[in-house]
Amino acid sequence: MPDYASFYRRSIDQREAFWAEQAALIDWQTPPVHILDYSRPPFARWFVGGTTNLCHNAVDRHLAQRGQQDALIAVSTETGSERCYSFAQLHAEVQTMAATLLSLGVHQGDRVLLYMPMVAEAVFAMLACARIGAVHSVVFGGFASVSLAGRIDDAEPVLIISADAGSRGGKLVPYKPLLDEAIARAGHKPARVLIVDRGLAPWARVPGRDEDYAEWRTRHANATVPCVWLDATHTSYTLYTSGTTGRPKGVQRDTGGYAVALAASMKHIFCAPQGDAAETFFSTSDIGWVVGHSYIVYGPLIAGMATILYEGLPTRPDAAVWWRLVEQYRVSVMFSAPTAVRVLKKHDPAALKRHDLSSLRALFLAGEPLDEPTARWISESLGRPVIDNYWQTESGWPILTVCNGVEKTPSRFGSPGKAVYGYEVKLLDENTGEELTEANQKGVLVIEGPLPPGCMQTVWRDDDRFVKTYWQSVPGKHVYNSFDWGIRDADGYFFILGRTDDVINVAGHRLGTREIEESLSSHAAVAEVAVVGVADALKGQVAMAFVVLKDSLQADTPSAALQLEGALMKVVDDSLGAVARPARVHFVGALPKTRSGKMLRRAIQAVSEGRDAGDLTTIEDPAALQQIRDAVGRGP
Ligand code: AMP
Repeated sequence: MPDYASFYRRSIDQREAFWAEQAALIDWQTPPVHILDYSRPPFARWFVGGTTNLCHNAVDRHLAQRGQQDALIAVSTETGSERCYSFAQLHAEVQTMAATLLSLGVHQGDRVLLYMPMVAEAVFAMLACARIGAVHSVVFGGFASVSLAGRIDDAEPVLIISADAGSRGGKLVPYKPLLDEAIARAGHKPARVLIVDRGLAPWARVPGRDEDYAEWRTRHANATVPCVWLDATHTSYTLYTSGTTGRPKGVQRDTGGYAVALAASMKHIFCAPQGDAAETFFSTSDIGWVVGHSYIVYGPLIAGMATILYEGLPTRPDAAVWWRLVEQYRVSVMFSAPTAVRVLKKHDPAALKRHDLSSLRALFLAGEPLDEPTARWISESLGRPVIDNYWQTESGWPILTVCNGVEKTPSRFGSPGKAVYGYEVKLLDENTGEELTEANQKGVLVIEGPLPPGCMQTVWRDDDRFVKTYWQSVPGKHVYNSFDWGIRDADGYFFILGRTDDVINVAGHRLGTREIEESLSSHAAVAEVAVVGVADALKGQVAMAFVVLKDSLQADTPSAALQLEGALMKVVDDSLGAVARPARVHFVGALPKTRSGKMLRRAIQAVSEGRDAGDLTTIEDPAALQQIRDAVGRGP
């Protein structure tokens, strides 16, 4: 076993040789001719000339050895259903779905948008797209019609796959009416809509456009649809994520690089499976997020593991439900988010003692900073390693963690770990762009190009935005900007100190404050608005809105203010979804700005968290900041 330091160095100094070795972890129809083409930085093309298929690697290649083993375990504590699909059954279901897509006019390269609850058909659809070379674009089911319409317009799907409804905490969440509203709003109209009818809510069929999947499933039962061999650089999917502007970016990912990156991460980071025995991976994320793409669907399946798809809350019917699944399905690796752990601890800290968790080797946590009390509680309760890992929608797989599959490496509380192989991580001074080489200096976390396999290829249909946003935003440097602050200790462990931009992280969900501001501004009473992320003990951060009304008399009594606050929250619920709803909407007379009119967001955030407002030399009107202080109930 090599030591991690030399494994890492090789991944940077002998990049092509290193990744050529990793490429052997997947099946290729045609092996790559060039490992890396970086002739047009920052666009990295990995495994050029190779042809492969994600679905083949996730499903077909396991049929001979693992055909009868569980591949997909779909559990819903909302509908009370639990269904296991073996690799052979998954293979059949994916082909039935693929035949349906072909019948509905989906061709290679066409986009298929998925707006779906956590049902097995969502996984069939993603794999079916990969199988025929269609580009899937999954939109998180918690987003509402305005968010969805924006993504429909950007992706221009020929087909949208959705469901009648989902369910959350026992409450029905209708999908079809939201989808209809989004399509009505969108400029682009998909030719077809395929509905998975779960029998949860009646839905209206638009003739000529809407199809019921049950009918197509019968028609294409036993269909044979071979995998299309695709160029390694073929786009496998786009996934929208928030940034500084109100317009989400379509993160575009390739095929071969992604497959290799995931296969390598399963081996070196997740250390699974260990040998040929059947193993189960349980990621509690949602298919609408990048963790769902990489570690519910593709990663575990590529590694030949069963994967659990879970619809429901972590606390229903009780806070032991996830641990019950670990026991029942002998889960060996689990992946979740710190927020979920905090929720479980608050609900019933003893719940995990009721189950046999002996199969579990490690719990991985990502998506937001892992605070020390949470990390200590869960690692002591489980008696298993709890491994923090830092990454982004853009990277597709971990950037910082400890790679125990390479060399056993101790974790450090508060740190996601060291730079992962393939990533040349640096810290730069925000203003000068100088590299910070001393230990414990705070800087912007950046990655030297080329990004390793699996990372975003570009922003969907917007190379210019990819270059400008990510590669030209640090003065004088052409490096990938993560938009996170970090520090590194003397031993190479990094610590993440929050975002440098206007992105906030609510319960592990990445949200753009600008999108929330735009949504609130659409209400007739609003003149101006600022939304910031404020620290929260349970969710990590919550959105807090400060609104200047056109007519301040509209909120001049406590009951009028409360009513208007409710109305504004509803605007966000209806347009973006409840996940983006601010925790509070405060009404103020003015917002603090610089003399040149720039909103002092960092100062608003600091004051809302009871911290010092920082440098205020450029502030136009200090009284406006005092109003924020008063609104959140914190004195000077
Ligand atoms: P997303 O693209 O939704 O995965 O969000 C990525 C962002 O979440 C990062 O840029 C970080 O700000 C934050 N993040 C993800 N993982 C971690 C982690 N382990 N520790 C601290 N922050 C994290």
